[in-house]
Amino acid sequence: MPGKTVQTETAEAFGRTFIKGNIPEINSVRCLGCRNCVNLCKKLGPNVLDIVDGVAKPVRPQNCIGDGACMLSCPTKAIFLMSKYDPAAPPVAV
Ligand code: SF4
Repeated sequence: MPGKTVQTETAEAFGRTFIKGNIPEINSVRCLGCRNCVNLCKKLGPNVLDIVDGVAKPVRPQNCIGDGACMLSCPTKAIFLMSKYDPAAPPVAV
């Protein structure tokens, strides 16, 4: 049975292999702009997020390794899902 070939890019971090391609969806209503996710992501290395207009945004989405650390750091669960990163269709606020 013919299979579908899927191209994946991986990243090595924390002694593990992550499949790149997803970025965090950030709920701008729930986000407090506390920088927990920004600071953690920067400290861990990918440095994907920053605060823009008072809320967290994935300003360097190409860096995301999809480890989900930002989700665990958020006190309001503003980051609840990871979604497919498509460079042709940058993420919009949810
Ligand atoms: S941790 Fe949550 S509330 Fe704080 S800046 Fe990030 S998304 Fe916003």
